[in-house]
Amino acid sequence: KYGFNNRVLRINLSTGEIKKEELDQKLIDEFIGGRGFTSKIMYDELPVNTKPLDPENLFVMAMGPFNGLFFPATGKTHFGFKSPASGGYGDSNMGGHFGVAFKYAGYDLLIMTGKAKKPSYLYIEDEKVEIRPADKYWGMGALTVEKKFKEDLGEEFQIAAIGPAGEKLSSFACISHDFGRQAGRTGVGAVLGSKNIKAITIKGTGSIPVYDPEAMLKKGKYVYEEVKKKPGFKGWTPQGTAGITDWCNEVGACPTRNFQTSYFENYKNINGQAILDHLKITDKGCYACPTPCGKYGYAKTKSGSAYVEGPEYESIALLGSNCGIGDIAEVGYLNYICDEWGVDTISAGVAVSWAIECYEKGILTKEDIGRDVKFDDLDSIIYLLDLIGKRKGIGDLLAEGVKVASEKIGKGSEKFAIHVKGVEWTGYESRNAPGMMLGYMTADIGAHHGRCWVLGNDVAGSADAGSVHDLITGGAKADKLPKARRKGVSGMVIDSQHLRPAFDLLGTCRLQYMELGFEVDYYEDFYYTITGKKIKWEDVIKVSEKVWNLNRCFNIREIEGYGRNYDYPPARFYEEPIPDGPNEGHYITFEEIESMLDEYYKARGWDKNGLPTKEKLIELGLEDVAEAMYATSGGE
Ligand code: SF4
Repeated sequence: KYGFNNRVLRINLSTGEIKKEELDQKLIDEFIGGRGFTSKIMYDELPVNTKPLDPENLFVMAMGPFNGLFFPATGKTHFGFKSPASGGYGDSNMGGHFGVAFKYAGYDLLIMTGKAKKPSYLYIEDEKVEIRPADKYWGMGALTVEKKFKEDLGEEFQIAAIGPAGEKLSSFACISHDFGRQAGRTGVGAVLGSKNIKAITIKGTGSIPVYDPEAMLKKGKYVYEEVKKKPGFKGWTPQGTAGITDWCNEVGACPTRNFQTSYFENYKNINGQAILDHLKITDKGCYACPTPCGKYGYAKTKSGSAYVEGPEYESIALLGSNCGIGDIAEVGYLNYICDEWGVDTISAGVAVSWAIECYEKGILTKEDIGRDVKFDDLDSIIYLLDLIGKRKGIGDLLAEGVKVASEKIGKGSEKFAIHVKGVEWTGYESRNAPGMMLGYMTADIGAHHGRCWVLGNDVAGSADAGSVHDLITGGAKADKLPKARRKGVSGMVIDSQHLRPAFDLLGTCRLQYMELGFEVDYYEDFYYTITGKKIKWEDVIKVSEKVWNLNRCFNIREIEGYGRNYDYPPARFYEEPIPDGPNEGHYITFEEIESMLDEYYKARGWDKNGLPTKEKLIELGLEDVAEAMYATSGGE
């Protein structure tokens, strides 16, 4: 079992029991690591019908075989749990150094259940594992508390903490680490908060068993040397994800004022260059990353100032254009506010913009909100974010996410509550990007670009659009874009849904493959040097497909009536043509959405309601899942 420490840390917070167990070889063979582990454990071990904020929900943290070893960007940490946002399978990952410390402490997997009797934090220092009181840290902002833990425990400790939003169980509360790296999506921070856990603190001083250390160093050195020769290297690092802002706007995909349109007139003031000109102090990277895409800087605004990491593209899109904010310092400051409250910038941006649109349309009144609010106004956005963080007034409802909020408020507000499965849509307006829309609609965890990104393919009208960097530099710059194809997009969507999460199995960042053009044999060869086992890239993709199907089955088991009706986008996208910009007039009709779903389910080997067929599950080696699903549902 090389590449792993072969140890599972199992903690019951209700009883205080802490156990160290052996990692099951079968789990490694069948699920590789990271997201594969979280999916399998959630399916096998979560008591059926547990509610997300019940003590019985699991909080799983899983490492991959590459984590902490001599290969570019092996600092990703993966979390799995039942999501308070969707009620189904939830997961989220983050960069930084946290999971690496966990592996160096001698563990691969943390499975935590129960609820601590009072506010606590988890202390891990190699063999020493303790549940310690956290009364003095409770209530602190996520960035503030990380600093406090480092002062108290020592700089060498890696900290993953929640902010007040996690303590107050907001459905889009995040986990924060390294002063700006977040596991943001699907409410992971609320799950930790529901367990009365403020933070996990780790110091690891050990090493990881490797099959052939000499070959590993040779291969790793080779790959590091290749990095600078890659065509995307020079383009990617200086601006990171923010470098895509101009292109997204030029192709009419920039969500603007609650996705009412897809072109933001002030985009030049919030793009990657604006970060370099007005915010950035230094680049910042995750563990072992040769292409540090994080930008650490200082945001000075009329309403406050702060040091902040970012904003990266998603925060620019959802806190910037989607709130009408056209000033990079203001976007940076809003990013800081979200980080300190401990909320996902994406969902927070969507929730705030939904509330403002409700106010503009008279659905929410001044009395409901407590004051006038408007787009394009920093103080309005700060006001609403603070209410969300404190769960005060309308913020208490907004903290539940736009699905719950719009269902409660009604009056047509559901139409422009921009989410799928209760998870808010990320930074790509897709009314003229059918593949991208289908990817959002069918993603296992809800509307998340980390599961599928085919916007470039939609724009290029090709299944092979190249990297984002190629698109930016080659860029489509038409004034008006033609209607993108609706048919034949499911293949590229499924390919992307298997490819992007594949890196979550290994414990690496995907961006070196996506943006720099890493070869698959880098991964195959390195895997062999660390584990002594041969693996083909097709095998990794097959496991990724298995995990995708397993998560679908988890949702079917846990959510009554789950199926096709959970895969539709918000009505705005099939009822309202885009009013202006390069995609003016475009939208995707409901009939086209139905036909895309039919095509997608067929290509996946699912039935018309989106349920994996028995044959498909057996083909993927999920016989036990097939048996459980078809024994209770009575056949296909
Ligand atoms: Fe982290 Fe960015 Fe490097 Fe990926 S490319 S490992 S997100 S710094």
